[in-house]
Order: sequence, then C-alpha cells, then structure tokens
Amino acid sequence: MTKLMRFLKILSFSFGSYFLMSCQQEHAVFLENYPKIDLLITNGQVIDGLGNEAILADIAIVGDEIVFLGKSEFSPDELTNRVKLVIDAKNQTITPGFIDLHSHGDPLATPDFENFLAMGVTTISLGQDGSSPNVPKLSDWLAKVEDQGIGVNLAMFVGHGTLRTVSGIGRNSAPSADALTQLSELLNNTLKYTFGMSTGLEYNPGLNADEDELLILADVVGINNRILMSHMRNEDNTALAESIRELVNQGRFTKVHVSHIKSVYGHGVADAEEILDILAEARKNGIQISADIYPYNASYAGLALLFPVWAKTPEQFEDAMINRKDELELYLKNKIEKRNGPSATLIGTAPYTGKTLAELSEQFKLTPEQVLLKLGPSGYSGAYFIMDDELQSRLLIDPNISISSDGSYTGFHPRGHGTFAKIIERFVQQRKVLTLTEAVRKMTSQSAKILGINDRGEIKVGNKADILIFDPEKVKAKATYPEPHQLAEGFDVVIINGKIARRDGKISPKFSGLVLKPNSIK
Ligand SMILES: [Zn+2]
Repeated sequence: MTKLMRFLKILSFSFGSYFLMSCQQEHAVFLENYPKIDLLITNGQVIDGLGNEAILADIAIVGDEIVFLGKSEFSPDELTNRVKLVIDAKNQTITPGFIDLHSHGDPLATPDFENFLAMGVTTISLGQDGSSPNVPKLSDWLAKVEDQGIGVNLAMFVGHGTLRTVSGIGRNSAPSADALTQLSELLNNTLKYTFGMSTGLEYNPGLNADEDELLILADVVGINNRILMSHMRNEDNTALAESIRELVNQGRFTKVHVSHIKSVYGHGVADAEEILDILAEARKNGIQISADIYPYNASYAGLALLFPVWAKTPEQFEDAMINRKDELELYLKNKIEKRNGPSATLIGTAPYTGKTLAELSEQFKLTPEQVLLKLGPSGYSGAYFIMDDELQSRLLIDPNISISSDGSYTGFHPRGHGTFAKIIERFVQQRKVLTLTEAVRKMTSQSAKILGINDRGEIKVGNKADILIFDPEKVKAKATYPEPHQLAEGFDVVIINGKIARRDGKISPKFSGLVLKPNSIK
C-alpha cells in the first residue's frame, strides 16, 4: 500500500465515522424536537412531486405536518415508545396526494368523496364552470361544510354565473354600471376566502357577459392575487383560438386558466400544436396562463349544450317550441350530425341513463332531433364522444398542462372515478408517454402552484402531510362509460392532513379533509 493510499483510507474512515456521528447527533436533536411521532412511513420510494427521481427514504409525520424526510435512525426501543404508527412501504411508491383542479360535487350531500380518495385525490376544486352554490353568503355554506366534515381538502371557487344570479343581473346582457359595480364588490368580498373566480361562458347566465364585464371582473381577481378559471365560450375547433384569445385578454389583469382544455371536432397532433402555440405565445407576452385536462375523449354536460343560445333556458325553449320549432329542429339535426351522429351522445340521467340518442330514437320512433325536443335543454345530461384521441393525448402530455377530473361522485361519466388512476395506468404504464415522476408533477406540485397553495403538492419537511402509498403497476381505473361509478384500485394508503383517510379499500369514519384557506392577499 502506498503512503497516499493509506492516507486516503484513513481519511475515508474518519470521514465515514464523522458522518455516522453526525447522523446520530441529528437523530438525537430530532428526538428532542419531536419526542412523539404520529406516523412513520419507512423504506418507500419517495417521489417529491417536483419531477425529481424517486429516492429511498422514510417520512415522519407529527400532527398534520411532515417533520422528517430521509433515513431515520430509530432503535427498536424508540420505535415502540415514540412512534404511534409505522407503515412499512417497502417496494411501494410514495407521492404527494393528487390535486384535482376542476371537480364537481356537493359536499353537504356526499361528504366522504370516496370516488376521489380511491383515485388518490386529496384536494378537490369546486365552484367550477361559473357555478358555485346559489346562497346569499358562500362563507356560510363553507362553514357548514367544515362543520359537517369533508373527506378531501376543498379549494373553493366562486362562480361568475352564480354571482350574476345572486346580484340580480341574471341573464341580462347589458347590466347597468351600478349593477356591475355591485357585482365587482360581491366578487371582491368573496375572493377574500376563495381561490378565485370561475366562468362558464358556454352556459347561462355567464354566456350573457360581454368583454367589458369580464375585464372588470378579471381586474378584481388580479387585485386579490387570485386566479380566473374558465370554461371558455366555445370549444369547437373553429372557435377555440378566439375563445382562448378572449381569456388571454383577461390575462392582462390576472392569472388565467383554461378549464378542461379540448378541441371539439378537431383532429390530430397538428391541431393540438396549434393550441399549444397560442398558449406559449401568450406566456411569452407575459400572460400567466395555465390549463387542465381530463384523460377521456367524451365530454359530459347538460343537454342545453346542444341547443342554440335562443333556446337554452326552459322559458326560451318553450317560446322556441311555439315560434321557431322548425328552425330549432333543423339546428339540432345539424348539431347532432356535426357531433359524430346520434350514437355519440350517451344520456346520463334517469330514466334514460346509459342510452344513446340513437337508441332512444329507436325506442320512441322519433328522429334523434325530435328526441332532443322531447327531452328539452334542462333536466338531462349526456356524455358526448366528440374528441380525437391523438389530439387530446398530445395536449395531455404537454408539461404545462395539469390534470383535472371534471368529475363528480354522481355524474354518469367515468372521469369522476377514474381520471387520476387512468393517467398512471394508461399514460405511464401502458403507453409510456409520461414518466411516473412527470405524471405525478402534473397532478401535484404544478396544480398546487396554479391554485397558489404553498404547503401541499410536494413531499418536503414543513409541508402538510397529504401522501399516497401505492404500487404504480397495480393502479387501475375501473370506471367505464356503461359503469362509471366503479372505484379506482391500487392506492393502498391515502393520507390527508397527517391522518389515514383510506387504507386497503376502507375509508376512515372520521373525515380528515379541510376547507382550505387561500393565501393572504399581497
Ligand atoms: Zn366545464
């Protein structure tokens, strides 16, 4: 052995023991700071949510907070006396809980939200598409939700359409200056405790708002440092660019977000690139614009979507049936043809649940457009198979686009029970177009950033403990179009705010979700 080699050996030995001592010291300090650990997850492959590679690490949780991430040094004695619960996550993957940027549901009716828990969602965003609960004070409603308890965390939005209704503007397309001031004040007050405003410009009453109104409100959202999420005015491929431009224009005043980005009737990767280019161009010009998408090629909405603007509400429809029936029938005939024919609309409301327009046409001995006249624009919803897989998949893998379900506990569409599982099963495992770490980033840290949530969406010390433990190869989206209410499988442990919310298919009787508070205003 040369002198140099001997020197190096001694050096590495001393360094090694120094390192060991330092770990022990750190462990002692750690025990002093946290004499009791509520939950210790050991030996898992931890994906932090930022897109970094997985690391083998333990996670210690006290209360609702992650207090340690790394290799823990607990002796068997310490494990028994100081740690309440240990979960051995050997060969398992650990990620932050998924954050759903666009969800539906009524927490007062179905507070457990097991559909979301079973697919790894720990935070949902309600009040979408311009519609939040129609109550005089949304804060009272949120207090009720908090009182009753909720199975997942809730990031609440206020709906522009609902604000119009509550403030008395309703479907008026030319509200007075006074009415607009009132609307702005109502929005301003509500934004103090909500994450932003949603618009639903394809629906009543939101569709009656003109550009000026939306710009005034965007300014209020921006002043409050919140985000404006939009179900845009028209998602048809021919109108999409214009719809995005309308939103980008509002983006001069506030952060803006395209909800469930899709191109109705569009085809192929080139169409997707065109949409992505518009978003990239806006970002280059300083607009903060983001988007979310769900991994299904059928949309889901009320039948009003198929009706012209002059026949969407019950009153308008009644009037149109008397005065413009032939015109309406022709409009619907063309619409159905354009939307891939009567077999491409699947009704999701009883008593016609699971039947296509084509099947109902058979059953009633009516043309498909006459079936729509019979059902009317209100009261029924449907799944519409109007998207192209190539196009939507290209949008979905784009690094700037996050994942949402646009789903609910009760809607007759598999996205409400399958979305986040399907991302891992289909796009990571089967098609291999997303890495697991990238897919997780699009479902966690990126979404948290969009919502302005600083302490979730990433596994790190100091963050809230919203955590999933699972084997990615066992994740399965079981929900289908004929049977959309089948829970997803594979997410063995779902932890919310440090508490086990669901484990091995069993939901905890005590809810651990919270009504989240948005960041205080700058
Ligand atoms: Zn929508």
